[in-house]
Amino acid sequence: MQVDQRKGAREATENLVRCGQCSHFSFFPNEKGHNRPQALGRCLAGASWDGNRGQWPLLLHPCPNFNEKS
Ligand code: SF4
Repeated sequence: MQVDQRKGAREATENLVRCGQCSHFSFFPNEKGHNRPQALGRCLAGASWDGNRGQWPLLLHPCPNFNEKS
């Protein structure tokens, strides 16, 4: 039973991504010229995974428009 639960958890996270690793993600500009890694940013793709423009860079979620930064 323990093994099946771990396998299920691994499969559940296999297709999850973070906006902070996506080329469509951008932090909001500010007067200091930088942001903390966990600061709220925005999705500049045509459509975000949940329909919201504002996105947290470190939150794991599925996204069909993810494009890994090069
Ligand atoms: S395309 Fe998806 S992963 Fe990329 S920034 Fe937008 S919501 Fe995040």
